[in-house]
Amino acid sequence: MISTAPVSPAPISVSDASRIERLAEVAVHVGLGLQAGQELVMTAPLEAIALARAITAEAYKAGASLVTTLFTDEEAILLRFAYARDESFDVAAQWLQDAVAAAYRSGAARLAITGSNPALLDGQDPQKISRANLAMSKASRAPLELITRHEINWTIVPCATPAWAAKVFPNEPADAAMARLWDAIFASMRLDAPDPVAAWRQHDAELQRRAQFLNGRRYAAIHFRGRGTDLRVGLADDHLWLGGGTLARNGVPCIPNMPTEEVFTTPHKDRVDGMVRATKPLSYQGMPIENIQVRFESGGIVEASASQGETILQKMIQTDEGARRLGEVALVPHSSPIAASGLLFWNTLFDENAASHIALGQAYSTCIRSGASLEPAQLQAKGANDSLIHVDWMIGSAEMDVDGITQEGNLEPLMRLGEWVQAVG
Ligand code: ZN
Ligand code: ZN
Repeated sequence: MISTAPVSPAPISVSDASRIERLAEVAVHVGLGLQAGQELVMTAPLEAIALARAITAEAYKAGASLVTTLFTDEEAILLRFAYARDESFDVAAQWLQDAVAAAYRSGAARLAITGSNPALLDGQDPQKISRANLAMSKASRAPLELITRHEINWTIVPCATPAWAAKVFPNEPADAAMARLWDAIFASMRLDAPDPVAAWRQHDAELQRRAQFLNGRRYAAIHFRGRGTDLRVGLADDHLWLGGGTLARNGVPCIPNMPTEEVFTTPHKDRVDGMVRATKPLSYQGMPIENIQVRFESGGIVEASASQGETILQKMIQTDEGARRLGEVALVPHSSPIAASGLLFWNTLFDENAASHIALGQAYSTCIRSGASLEPAQLQAKGANDSLIHVDWMIGSAEMDVDGITQEGNLEPLMRLGEWVQAVG
């Protein structure tokens, strides 16, 4: 699962306009569950302005008291790297993050539109990128915590943008690339179904049944085996598998990531051992990191390498003590619709829903029984990790075998060659 997202406008053809409206409807009613009278804080790339406006309209129709959108201009980010003084890279707008946290505390819902250029910062100074990321992570600690604790209803939805489309379809002309990316987005968002809302309800129920099945097993650990991977991930005490929708602590049901195909839980921060190799590249804050290989010992990374972006990877895992430990483990079958598209999206919202994955950094307290009402120290005592970062990366493939390890130490097959062994429901 991902919990933050930055975003880029492209002319939308007339035939796409109605699909954008459908996307906005599903985002507001199914993803966000926006309540009448509730405020909405939205973030979006400038290039997603058509979708942002459609969502704004839908939110007001649903009774929103106020919609406030914070747009990101990627050109302005590049201007900072071109002209800002060195000290600039240790600065983040703390006042803005404080205001966002205040909005959440006063009951506002949160919607992020994702679609930023996955390679925006390719070629920029990795030290400056890392410093800017660290400053931003520190500044956004409070709002991120409210999100990961599910204090409010929130969701992340995608929007096709020219730079993103060019990265996914590098050999297509710009128009064709945008059209193909929109097609992939609409399919993954189930917007081509006769009744998208009903299609989502059914999909949500399936993910909930899968999570229930895993919760019934109470596994001590999950074992991954694949090419370059032999990894035992111990699970946190009182861990809870989740999938699909969540009931936020404000009482509103929401689906935090759209699309979503995963069931996920909290690993034990001190009980992860072995080797793991990423099966897809990762775009981390606009920088591609490729061919990640990592070795864990007693929960912490002791060796890490990447064929590209290694400096960024090393800096990322040094963010704090928790950045070298796991905060999430998630299972996704290789036949998931996003995986079946065969595309590499260079966008975590999509790629993490095409493959089983692990995340370095902050754990979701909702993945611990009664976790949202526990203090940080109590969560850590159960094995839940604590960090400024939460970065998902993909380890699943059509070759991956996954076993559950029972409390007695017995192995039970969960996935073979990337597919679930047991049917549920
Ligand atoms: Zn995940
Ligand atoms: Zn995640």
